[in-house]
Amino acid sequence: MKHIGYSILILIGCLSTSASNAYDPAAVAVHPTLLNKYEQFFPAEVLRVTDGVYVARGFNRDNPTLIIGPSGLIVVDPGESIDGAQQAKDAFNAHLDNIFDKRPVKAIIYTHHHDCHINGASVFADERTEIIAHENLMRSLFSEWYGQVFPSRVEGGLKMSGILFQDAPVEQGEGWYAGYVLAGKNFIGPSGFLPPTIRVKDRLDTMIAGVRLTLISAPGETDDVILVWLPQKQVLIQIGILYEAFPALTTMRGSRQRDPLDYVESLKICRSLEPEYLVALHGPNPITSGKENVRQYLTNFSDAIQFMHDQTIQYLNQGFTPGEIKDLLELPPHLAQSPYLQETYGRKDWNIYHIFRFYRGYYTGAVRDLFPQSPLSEARLSAELAGGVDALAGKAQSALAAGELEWALRLADDVLLLDEWNDAAFETKKAAMLALAADDMNAQARNMLLSDYLLMTQPDSIIAPFPFGDPKAIFARINDQAMRLMPMETLNRIMAVNLNAAKSIDEDRVMGLRLTDRFKHQSMSREPNQYRFQVRHGILEVDPPSDGVGQLLVTTDSLTWKALVLGKLAADIAVADHLVSISGGSAEDFYAFMDLFESS
Ligand SMILES: [Zn+2]
Repeated sequence: MKHIGYSILILIGCLSTSASNAYDPAAVAVHPTLLNKYEQFFPAEVLRVTDGVYVARGFNRDNPTLIIGPSGLIVVDPGESIDGAQQAKDAFNAHLDNIFDKRPVKAIIYTHHHDCHINGASVFADERTEIIAHENLMRSLFSEWYGQVFPSRVEGGLKMSGILFQDAPVEQGEGWYAGYVLAGKNFIGPSGFLPPTIRVKDRLDTMIAGVRLTLISAPGETDDVILVWLPQKQVLIQIGILYEAFPALTTMRGSRQRDPLDYVESLKICRSLEPEYLVALHGPNPITSGKENVRQYLTNFSDAIQFMHDQTIQYLNQGFTPGEIKDLLELPPHLAQSPYLQETYGRKDWNIYHIFRFYRGYYTGAVRDLFPQSPLSEARLSAELAGGVDALAGKAQSALAAGELEWALRLADDVLLLDEWNDAAFETKKAAMLALAADDMNAQARNMLLSDYLLMTQPDSIIAPFPFGDPKAIFARINDQAMRLMPMETLNRIMAVNLNAAKSIDEDRVMGLRLTDRFKHQSMSREPNQYRFQVRHGILEVDPPSDGVGQLLVTTDSLTWKALVLGKLAADIAVADHLVSISGGSAEDFYAFMDLFESS
């Protein structure tokens, strides 16, 4: 098929070679706590947990874990890309006398659907390898990642992880990139994801390669997390509910609301197993040994979440708003001081807002919040209070000089909303962002600030692998395998959110679709092969309950249809190449319908 876009990961791959230029300034200081975390990722190495269990730390954003059984191997979370997984495999081979030449890989287990855990599978698998995951994994993957919010997730993920400036790592205090606490480096490359062959619902007790395994559903970061428990070895392998930093109930990348109590419940399951060894699939120190140490680690992490949760709700019930709770809520000293609970990844204040919104939504209960203001309206008020736009720029400078960096950023930003060419405010905003990034131990905050700094000041020096702000172009870069596996339900949502409301506001038209290959693709086995799309004054409804008017019917195979919707294939090319056939109307009717989903 023609006009298929590049794989996402290949495009990210291009980035790291094309962006190796000098940034201005050449280095941004790193908070010592964050720097210390980052340096612990090096050198990459294979670590022994106990007999027959090994972790490859520093070769991927996750820590692929190898279980060696009498009759074969099991790999947990095979890595973030084909390249990353190959590095981990080579390291295991070097450390373990070419183990992959001697024993077959019987199973690969995904602990959840996040990209750093699933994209290395093909490097380890042969045709008989079972791929095991939670039964929700595919649904999560095609709603949380390759779904209607893909463009936003991609932008958030790239900024949060610092990929845009990864070619300038901090070495001896010089540079920009200092990891993101869960990982030291990103090892980008094409995806080797393989879909699951065995799905776990609540619990699966099984024997693979002569090793007894218990897989337990344990929702937390996502609702498709499974714990891997090796009862004979007393090893618990997990991620998605615990890591070596203050918990992030929500990430800056963006995610659906996570129920904080899910984490607490899942951590309770972990504790009930009384593991001797705990393997974390992220972070520089993946192995915790000793029942008491493990118990303490799990308990502290759980208590930090529960304390924040319960106390936030206690204040909420007393009528406090999240901003007020932020000033009131203090962690107990033993948690606040724990080296494993520093705010290098999650943050207390972000979690308060998350918990608050999880339970009561947008409205805080304070009448001043009944009337949401746009940033522009707030900026106008700021300028008026300051005595004009230039006076406001002066206030921003004073705040910067006084070290009130957050206010300097906010006020300078207000000025730029009113006068985008205001040099004083532009310089103040730049300086505030750099200083905030240098001061903050939180890796997500640092990476977000520095990514936006680069996009704002040196857009030509970084080639973003995705055209931020152009969702249609980003959807078009969903890789081909993900496109093949994508459920029609996901595709229909992507279509709906791409509808141009202005263009379709006076429209009411229906188009039928017949797919010719219903049973050929795994994702489609239980899906209908006929759809009706009604565009009705600004919305798209798929299969409306009543018959729409119109006879236009498009017949094609599912891959062609997916490529059309994702913008990988133009409608006129599809017609010219006889990839679609049209009845009940003309090719022009088909183009006109598809054009309703174009932004211009
Ligand atoms: Zn992860």
